[in-house]
Amino acid sequence: MSQNSVGQSSAHSNHKEIWPKIWKLQVPSAVRIFLWRASHDSLPTNLNLCKRKIRIISVCPICKLESESVLHALWSCPSVQDVWAACSRSLQKMKVSFTSFKEVVEHVLSNFNEEDAEELACTAYKVWRKRNTLVFEEKFEDPLRVVLSASHLSKEFKEANWDASVDRLSSRVGVGVVVRNWEGRVIAILRAPRKLFPNAKLAESVAALRAVLFCKNLGITRLLLEGDTLSVVKDLNSETLDWRSTGLIIQDIKEELKSLSLESVHFISRLSNCIAHCLAKDALKLSEESISMEGVPPCIQHLFN
Ligand SMILES: [Zn+2]
Repeated sequence: MSQNSVGQSSAHSNHKEIWPKIWKLQVPSAVRIFLWRASHDSLPTNLNLCKRKIRIISVCPICKLESESVLHALWSCPSVQDVWAACSRSLQKMKVSFTSFKEVVEHVLSNFNEEDAEELACTAYKVWRKRNTLVFEEKFEDPLRVVLSASHLSKEFKEANWDASVDRLSSRVGVGVVVRNWEGRVIAILRAPRKLFPNAKLAESVAALRAVLFCKNLGITRLLLEGDTLSVVKDLNSETLDWRSTGLIIQDIKEELKSLSLESVHFISRLSNCIAHCLAKDALKLSEESISMEGVPPCIQHLFN
């Protein structure tokens, strides 16, 4: 597609052309899936929730000026203009008017290099998080911080998923950690059984700490940590101090994360965390810690077929 055909790009675009390009981007899988959903107009914006009859007011919850379409939420809302203005020059220079966010994605994928497309993907992902933080937690994130954290996501990083499985009868906890590179290729696996008071949040926190220490031992300095326990993820991202036992472990994790050059902690669904979940369950059957650097243990092989 030539630079001149931008105006027609949406009308003539072929879905098949853009998806392989999205999958090739060197960004965390969560960001690729997000970009795909955003291009597919399937984010729960107020307008989309109205179309599904879940909400009755479609107006943007931030600027309150227009209906909140995906294009508005991620691109044209005055509240995100500062974020895009602080991005790399090529993204700033896009003075094209778009009618959908898919057109934005197509435009960047067709006219700019991969690095720009990765920046677009990570920034849009962070813009959506910024919007949710404001809407659900009433907290405002500085646009420059959003741009900075997005640029961290698009550079070289490792993704580590952790989970814990609790055996109440024997007061044991199984810790499961899977570390992957940007392509999603498994580079290390940890299964660790622990004697521990069988409390779910405590177990999840201990497992997250073990995951961070494991990654540090592997020499990882850019880490995207993902878990399926919202309360632990929230605590790790909050600045509040909590002096209960779980809170102390959370403090330890934060201290360990501080020494990494880049880190980011995200919540993912249980379904997306199934590898770590199976590893944690399997860890309960082991008598001691097991680390695999090559190949995957039998307990998770079915997830790769
Ligand atoms: Zn708005």
